[in-house]
Amino acid sequence: MIRSTDPEIILPYLHDASNLSGGYAHEVVFPEDEQDVIHILDEACRSKTPVTVAGNGTGLVGARIPFGGIILSTTKLGGFRKVCRIHENSAYAVTGPAITLRKLQEAVSAHGFLYPPDPTEQNAFIGASVATNASGARSFQYGATRNWVRRLKIVLPTGDILELRRGECFANNENYLIVKGSKNTFELPLPHYTLPHTKHSAGYYVAPGMDALDLFIGSEGTLGVFTEVEVELIPKPYGFFSGIAFFEQKEHAWQFVDQVREESLKNRISREKDSLNACVLEYFDFSALNILRDIYPEIPQQARSAIFFEQEIRPGSETRLTTEWLQLLQNHHVLLSQSWFGKSVKEHTRFRIFRHAIPALVNKILRQYKQMKIGTDFTVPNEHFFDLLGLYQQYLENSGLQYCTFGHIADNHLHVNILPRNDQEAKKGWELYNQLASQIIQWGGSLSAEHGIGKIKKIYLLKMTGRSGMMEMALIKKKLDPDGILGRGNIIPEEFLNNEDADER
Ligand SMILES: Cc1cc2nc3c(=O)[nH]c(=O)nc-3n(C[C@H](O)[C@H](O)[C@H](O)COP(=O)(O)OP(=O)(O)OC[C@H]3O[C@@H](n4cnc5c(N)ncnc54)[C@H](O)[C@@H]3O)c2cc1C
Repeated sequence: MIRSTDPEIILPYLHDASNLSGGYAHEVVFPEDEQDVIHILDEACRSKTPVTVAGNGTGLVGARIPFGGIILSTTKLGGFRKVCRIHENSAYAVTGPAITLRKLQEAVSAHGFLYPPDPTEQNAFIGASVATNASGARSFQYGATRNWVRRLKIVLPTGDILELRRGECFANNENYLIVKGSKNTFELPLPHYTLPHTKHSAGYYVAPGMDALDLFIGSEGTLGVFTEVEVELIPKPYGFFSGIAFFEQKEHAWQFVDQVREESLKNRISREKDSLNACVLEYFDFSALNILRDIYPEIPQQARSAIFFEQEIRPGSETRLTTEWLQLLQNHHVLLSQSWFGKSVKEHTRFRIFRHAIPALVNKILRQYKQMKIGTDFTVPNEHFFDLLGLYQQYLENSGLQYCTFGHIADNHLHVNILPRNDQEAKKGWELYNQLASQIIQWGGSLSAEHGIGKIKKIYLLKMTGRSGMMEMALIKKKLDPDGILGRGNIIPEEFLNNEDADER
C-alpha cells in the first residue's frame, strides 16, 4: 500500500468543487484492498487520528476535504480494471468504489444496459455517488442513486466488514437496526425525525422498517468505507427525442414544466404505452443562459429561459411523440424555430454537454473570484412548485447579488448559485441562503436533494433535524465509529460528537 506525507501529493486532496479552503492533513494513504482499509482504520483508531475518505473531488459541500488527520484515497480500491462485472441475465453490475460514472455507463452500455441515476458530473466515483446519494437529470423518472444500489461491502472503523444486501436486514418494531458485521453485532437506535416527501440527501436516512443498506447510502464518509458496490441496471432505451426549448418568458417555461410533469406522472400511473413521459426536465434562467452565451453564442437573443427535455422513444412511437411534444411546446409559446431538437446520439450528447456546461462554468467563475460555492440544493413538495419559483424571484431579484438558477425543475429542485465577487457579498449570500432555507423547511422541503451536507451546510441541517435529531445521528455514528475518526466535520457538528448525552438514548 502506498502512503505519502509529501505535501505535493496531499495537496489535490485538500480541495473539491465547493472551493472550501483551509483543509490540511499529514498523510494520504492508498489502500488496495479491504485488509489495507482495516489496517489503516485500526491504526487511526489507536492513535485517534481522523480519517477523511476521498472520492474524485467533485463534491460540492467540502465533504472530502480533511481538517487534520489522514486522507484515505479510494483510487486504488478497485476501479474499472479491477472489478466491474456485469451480470447480463439479472441486469446488475459489481464494481470497486473508484470507477467513474462515465466509465461505468460506458461499460454497461457496451452490454446493452443503462445505469439510470444520472448525476451530470460524470467524473464522480460510484462509491462517492452512493455516499452522497447523488441524483441528477433523470431522477424525475428513475429516482436517486439509493433506488439502484443492491449491495454494499463496507469496512467499519471497528475492523468489521459489513456486507449488506437490499432486502435482507430491516429495522425492527422497536425502531432498531441490528446489523451483523464480521466481528461485532451493532444495535442501532434510529432517529425519530421524519424525512421530507421529496428527493433528499441531508443527514442519515430513516424510515419505519427501513433497510439497513439505506442508512449507509448518503452517509458522506462518516460511517464506513465502501469497498464494493453492486448496482441494478435496466435495458438501454432504444432512443430519445430531446431538445433545448427556449422561451421568451420564464413563466411560459414554468407552465410548460407544470403541464409536462402532470401528464408524465399521469401516464406513468396509467402505464399507457408510448405516451408522453419526460425522463428529463432541466431549467436554465436568464442569467444561466447569459453565462452560457460566452461559449454558446447561438443561444437565441430573445431567450430568457430554457428547458432541456428528454423523452424515451421506441420503434414506431417516434413520430407521434415528437408531434405531441412540439404541440405542447407551441401551446406554451416556445421560440419554436430557434429551439434545438434532435433524435441522434450526437445531438443528444450535445444537449447533455450544454446542460453540464452551466455548473462547470459557475464553478470556474467562483474559482476566479476565489469564493466558496453558495449553491442551493433545496427541493419542495409538488404543491409548492410555484411558491418556490416565486420565492427565488422575490429574494434574488432585489438582492443586488450576481446569481443564476438552473437544474432539476421537474423535481422542484433548482440550484440557485450565488456568485459573490468578494467576502462582503459572500456574507450577504449566506444570509440569503439562510432565509431561503427557513422557508424551504416550513414548506416540508429538503435542504439537500443530492449534494449532501458535508462541512458547509451542517448548521442549516440543524434547523431541519433539531438538536435531538443531531444527537440521534451522533449516537448511530458513535456505535459504528466509537473513536469518531471517520469523516469528522461532515453532517454532524463536533459538539454533538463530543457530547456525552449522545452516548445513551
Ligand atoms: C459541475 C458539477 C456538476 C454536478 N452535478 C451533480 C448532479 O447532477 N447530481 C449530484 O448528485 N451531484 C452533482 N455534483 C456533485 C458531485 O459530483 C457528487 O456529490 C459526487 O457524488 C461526488 O463524487 P466524488 O467522487 O467527486 O466524491 P468526493 O467529492 O471525493 O467525496 C464525496 C463524499 O463521498 C465520500 N466517499 C467517497 N468515496 C467513499 C467510499 N468509497 N466510501 C465511503 N464514503 C466515500 C467522501 O468522504 C465524501 O463525503 C456535481 C459536481 C460538479 C462539480
